[in-house]
Amino acid sequence: MHPQKNTSHKLLKSINQQKVLQLIYTAGSISRVELAQKTGLSQQTVTNIVNRLLEEGVVYEGEHLPLEAGSGRKRIQLYVNSSNFYVIGIELAGKYIRGSICDFRPEVLYSAERRTEKYLNSEHLLQLLGEVIEELLDQSPDVARTRGIGVSVQGLVDSREGVLLRTPGIGFERIPVRAVLEQKYELPVYLENDANLLALNENMNGSLSDSVENITLKFDYGIGGAIVSEKRLISGSTFVAGEFGHVKAFTGKDAHLCLCGGVGCLTTLLSISGLGVTTGYTLDSLARAYHNGDEEVVRMYGAMVDALATTLSNAVTFLNPDRVLLTGRVLTAVRKDILSILTEKVQNNIPLTSRGVKLIHMERMPDETLLAARLVLKHVFEVPLEALGI
Ligand SMILES: [Zn+2]
Repeated sequence: MHPQKNTSHKLLKSINQQKVLQLIYTAGSISRVELAQKTGLSQQTVTNIVNRLLEEGVVYEGEHLPLEAGSGRKRIQLYVNSSNFYVIGIELAGKYIRGSICDFRPEVLYSAERRTEKYLNSEHLLQLLGEVIEELLDQSPDVARTRGIGVSVQGLVDSREGVLLRTPGIGFERIPVRAVLEQKYELPVYLENDANLLALNENMNGSLSDSVENITLKFDYGIGGAIVSEKRLISGSTFVAGEFGHVKAFTGKDAHLCLCGGVGCLTTLLSISGLGVTTGYTLDSLARAYHNGDEEVVRMYGAMVDALATTLSNAVTFLNPDRVLLTGRVLTAVRKDILSILTEKVQNNIPLTSRGVKLIHMERMPDETLLAARLVLKHVFEVPLEALGI
């Protein structure tokens, strides 16, 4: 056979297999007849693929259900063997690296964590990351059935190349995490910024599933932002779109110098790290001072809420989203009714034409190691259309 023809035949075979696998996974359970209908493949092709997947233990056959009432024919449902395969999800944060080994459902089977006051340099970070991954691989029920590593990063990431661009504690330094980990563990590795990952997950099957245009903002140790348009993440030309933390938001006595070199950035008071550096307050001590009626803190908190409302109003005016998702520990640390305060201020601030927007608050942030595990699963079941240039 001509080598090129051989290659395209193999590619087509793998695309067909992925199509079948993706359908079984997303449907939960499906019969061979339905698979043929939905993929447009012949019954024989579907049977060949399913036999191969059964042999590899990737799928299994379930209960026999009647095809149609009174027909007497049976159909056999197929399921992905989700408890038989594993992925690793990692949360890379400013002061800790936490990871979980999960099955394909995904459910966490085992977790590991390393803490540090500060990453000394990139080698230190990679060493801690390696320790977490190795502990998880040791606990994996079957290393050969572990299919990839996903990393959620509280920092800036070039997700296409798998490179850290800015890491808490280290700053701007390109750290080629994917290349290092793929070489060491011979597993596919995927990296994504934490806010982007949260936005992707919420858009797929969470609180933004009925939204098309939205912004996700996370106010936690740092500030993270993600912009989604037509259900696609806007990453920007150098993967740093959505950097809301450095929006200029404070003036006068609240305009403090930011680590980025600018003055009055949102993050200088509205992130846990920024608040600590700028004022010495933690979220708890700030809330205590506010509720004790400390005049200066009450005034400063008012300025913080105004800055946040102005930033949100400008973002809504500029991008015209249908939803804005807000999350993170900073948001409700001082006042629990922050969502209604912000909603009122923003709605009064923005043009009439943008007032259809809805602010929503996610109180409990999902387990980031699970989101990172889902990132791997998304790729495991992805149909490689890109390979065809489609
Ligand atoms: Zn800044």
